[in-house]
Amino acid sequence: MSRSDQKVLVVDDQYGIRVLLKEVFSREGFQLYQAANGKTALDIIRAEKPNLILLDMKMPGMDGLELLRNLKKEEIDAKVIMMTAYGELDMVEEASKLGALSHFTKPFDIVELKEEVLRQLTSSS
Ligand SMILES: [Mg+2]
Repeated sequence: MSRSDQKVLVVDDQYGIRVLLKEVFSREGFQLYQAANGKTALDIIRAEKPNLILLDMKMPGMDGLELLRNLKKEEIDAKVIMMTAYGELDMVEEASKLGALSHFTKPFDIVELKEEVLRQLTSSS
C-alpha cells in the first residue's frame, strides 16, 4: 500500500499538537485527518476507516479511553498510538488492554513518534 493510500487521524484537543502532527505526516505523504474531540473523531473513523490513529488520552467530553471502548464495541480495527501527559500510567495500562499499541508522553520527540508511526504502518499485523 502506498503512503498516499494510508490514512492517519490525529485526535487532540490541543490545536498546536494537531497542526504539528498534520504538517509532519502530510509531508510524509499520508492522507491526514484531524479531530479536536472524541465525538468528531468517531464520526471520521466510521466514515474514513483510518489505518492509524494518534490519540490524545485527555480530552473534554469523550476522552481517549471512551473512544477506544467505542472502537472495540463497534469492532473497528485501527492501529492506535496514544499520547499522554506525564503520570497517566493508569490510563496507559487501560488503553493497552483496549488494544492501543504504544504510547508517547508529552512533550514527545517528534522524530521518535514519526518513526513509530512509519513502523506501525509498514508492519502487517
Ligand atoms: Mg488533551
